[in-house]
Amino acid sequence: MKTDVQPGALRSLRTKLIFIMLLLILLLMAVVCVFLVRGVQTFFTSAFYKEMSAAFANEQMAASLYSAAREEDAPEKLNDILSAYSGKLGIDADTRNFYILRMSDGRVMAGSDGVTELEFTNNILTAMTGSEGAEPGYGDLMDVAVPVGDYIIYVKDNRQTAQDLSWELIRLILQSVAVGFVISAALSVILARTLLRPILDMTKAADAMAGGDFSRKITVESGDEVGNLAATFNEMAQRLETTLEELKNAETLRREFVANVSHELRTPLTSIRSYAETLSDGGDMPPEMQKEFLGVIVNESDRMTKIVQDLLDLSKFDSGSWALNFERFDLERSVRDVYAAVALDAKKRGHIVNLELEWRMPYVVGDRSRIEQVLMNILSNAVKYTPEGGTIEISSGALDGQVWIRVQDSGIGIPEADLPRVFDRFYRVDKARSRASGGTGLGLSIAHEIVERHGGKMVIESREGEGTTVTVYLPVNGPADAPGAESL
Ligand code: ADP
Repeated sequence: MKTDVQPGALRSLRTKLIFIMLLLILLLMAVVCVFLVRGVQTFFTSAFYKEMSAAFANEQMAASLYSAAREEDAPEKLNDILSAYSGKLGIDADTRNFYILRMSDGRVMAGSDGVTELEFTNNILTAMTGSEGAEPGYGDLMDVAVPVGDYIIYVKDNRQTAQDLSWELIRLILQSVAVGFVISAALSVILARTLLRPILDMTKAADAMAGGDFSRKITVESGDEVGNLAATFNEMAQRLETTLEELKNAETLRREFVANVSHELRTPLTSIRSYAETLSDGGDMPPEMQKEFLGVIVNESDRMTKIVQDLLDLSKFDSGSWALNFERFDLERSVRDVYAAVALDAKKRGHIVNLELEWRMPYVVGDRSRIEQVLMNILSNAVKYTPEGGTIEISSGALDGQVWIRVQDSGIGIPEADLPRVFDRFYRVDKARSRASGGTGLGLSIAHEIVERHGGKMVIESREGEGTTVTVYLPVNGPADAPGAESL
């Protein structure tokens, strides 16, 4: 199954990104717009009232206004004075104008722009009562009305400047939104690419994996979450590949094992059958020959029994039902017992066996009979695979909470290429030789399992034609998970 995600996924992610960015820009700009416009309005309002209070606080202007108000042609006089001060009042005849109103009815007597009708604002009404009207207005105009004698000096600003500036700001902001949109679109394309590329790579790699190809690696360019994901993905692929490889190897081993078992059992069966047939056919066979044949049959049956016993041990180990009986026992005694058991055979072959055990070996926690089985296997191998008249050294010692037992022989040795496989089930360097000496090829693998289950390890060093050294290391207090190991 191929998942074609590339164009569609890129487009949809890009659209989403553009949309989000645009929304963000719009929101941001709207907020900025509101604040700026309000700021501009407030600034202009407060500037206007500051300017007015400064202008009217001017004593010279106030004095001349008051004296002019008392004259006959007061409106003209007042008009002249205000015109003279128009710079101070910020009068431009366009956005800001002054007027002289009659206090009694608010009629426009004179003004800077010739307007004769004015709307009565709150400030004008206040001034008509004789007080100064300077309440800031937030509508579309701001004004002050100051009573002077029988007249009111009225200054009005239509806020055009503030309005113009606000519109200018809004225009600029809209322009920025447009530019922001173009930039965000470009950014989204780049972002979508950099974000999505590793993900697309991963999808492709996953597809390839589904097809059994683990070779695809994703290039991790960034240290961010996507980069981490890509790195984790690579690691996962690597692990999957290893696991799959292990499974394949295990499967191969299983097949080999079944083939080996069948073969190993068939060989003795075939010879038992042929000897038994010969015996039953040949009625006039000499009794010595009959005896010899029967001997072969018994031997082969024993061999089969041993193989079956070993296989049973291994299957118990594999299924986990192999309970070891942990106890604290005298390892030195075990070594000596095993030595005694093989001594006769060794002597028959003319071997010299040296026993060099450390004085007062510690007692160890373990399954005594299984450990003896291990020692027996190693020692009988040394005896078997050493040509007559060889030397076998058995030594032992204790170090750092561990004991070691070493069996060194001057035998045929194991070729370097075979060394890594001697713990494999049924593995024998020389099948004929092993068979001739009653070997099954299972001894070392069982010994290895037993030692590992004791939390120890087994090391084999060998040189072809020179000899072999097998060392078993065991923790004095048994494996950490041995039941009640500490109390033993
Ligand atoms: P076997 O029953 O054949 O002895 P083991 O599992 O005990 O099986 O040993 C596996 C193989 O390792 C043997 O067949 C033999 O080829 C090799 N081997 C083991 N111990 C020695 C040794 N001391 N010297 C030489 N070869 C050895």
